[in-house]
Amino acid sequence: MAFEGLADRLQNTMQKIRGKGKVSEADVKEMMREVRLALLEADVNFKVVKSFVKKVGERAVGQEVMKSLTPGQQVIKVVKEELTQLMGGEQSQIAVAKRPPTVIMMVGLQGAGKTTTTGKLANLLRKKYNRNPLLVAADIYRPAAIKQLQTLGKQLNMPVFSLGDQVSPVEIAKQAIEKAKEDHCDYVLIDTAGRLHIDENLMDELKEIKELANPEEIFLVVDAMTGQDAVNVAESFNEQLGITGVVLTKLDGDTRGGAALSIRSVTEKPIKFVGMGEKMDALEPFHPERMASRILGMGDVLTLIEKAQTAVDEEKAKELEQKMRTMSFTFDDFLEQLAQVRSMGPLDELLKMLPGANKIKGLNNVQFDEKQIGHIEAIIKSMTKEEKAHPEIINSGRRKRIARGSGRTIQEVNRLLKQFEEMKKMMKQMSNMQAKGKKKGFKL
Ligand code: GDP
Repeated sequence: MAFEGLADRLQNTMQKIRGKGKVSEADVKEMMREVRLALLEADVNFKVVKSFVKKVGERAVGQEVMKSLTPGQQVIKVVKEELTQLMGGEQSQIAVAKRPPTVIMMVGLQGAGKTTTTGKLANLLRKKYNRNPLLVAADIYRPAAIKQLQTLGKQLNMPVFSLGDQVSPVEIAKQAIEKAKEDHCDYVLIDTAGRLHIDENLMDELKEIKELANPEEIFLVVDAMTGQDAVNVAESFNEQLGITGVVLTKLDGDTRGGAALSIRSVTEKPIKFVGMGEKMDALEPFHPERMASRILGMGDVLTLIEKAQTAVDEEKAKELEQKMRTMSFTFDDFLEQLAQVRSMGPLDELLKMLPGANKIKGLNNVQFDEKQIGHIEAIIKSMTKEEKAHPEIINSGRRKRIARGSGRTIQEVNRLLKQFEEMKKMMKQMSNMQAKGKKKGFKL
């Protein structure tokens, strides 16, 4: 999980001070020592750590905390506010050109996740903001980058502009913008050329594209797992090219968090998005406050709700509720529900967004077996239409056939049928209880 190490340490430190009715300067000093160590261990830039500790320390011994009735909690509030501030305060927006198309240059070193992020961003722009982006393959140096973007385009059903790898990236950008105008695309996402290291040629080329394309945004894509290297890369790109924001990729695998906590402060440029996985829907707008809340174990219920909102169709949810009440819930409905939950992301990541989830012993080590869900899906898909609607007709002969068809064992088929039956019974009990409650006039 992102920030696991830092979250654990900070939460332990906060735990000690949380319930205190009195907080002395010595307590604050001790806490700040631990916070400092936790941040340094998380690979946060040492200058950033120094100024953070100073700010929190000053506020923690100030009037607002010491005079309050719950000083322990006030200290934690201060830490949360300053962490939020450190990561940029407010969530920053994505620019829109006065006259479309809005041009976004994606820049970064090879392997940072630039091409993948270009696809993810296009997907997000369409899904969340209802936009119509054109993807531009201008990374002509990394073998296979063009093909990769074309594959992503096909997968997302989005247009990709390419002129092969023999035309200069500047020319590609120029023609792509013309094409976007003709086709009424409102965003142009240019996947520019990456290199293994920052070099003059790369910067010159990017500057040329910038001059020509006059982009509203230049997003630097950096790999969170590279910690302070990512911060140094961001500093260089910003000095030489001028960036408008950062996309931090691979945060899903970053247990430390040093880059996420330092980049804003070092470059003064906001983190706009974070990559949380390899799939096309694994890009999230970055909310400093929510991230601070996650780090301090206060959960991130807002993101969870948003995920549910995009994954679950409200009309369908109502229909499902009706089916549950009237007991006409079938295996087809069950399949649909599974698909919706899955589209929200890996289950263990979702659970960790609940407040206090880190405190539930063992949750960090729970590996939800996504394969298991795949097996259940396979079994259901091997049923006939009639069997899905009326599972009671599934006799032993049919069970054998379903097992064979799905490549699972008969025991697994039996187990699923039994679970489904129990689930239906539970639904019946619940709707009975509700009906009784209504008769007696209970508020439910
Ligand atoms: P580029 O050279 O910068 O264009 O890098 P790519 O887009 O090809 O990405 C390099 C690798 O990082 C690929 O295997 C991606 O699937 C992976 N990747 C990109 N973003 C993420 C992310 O947010 N999380 C994880 N786990 N992997 C990512």
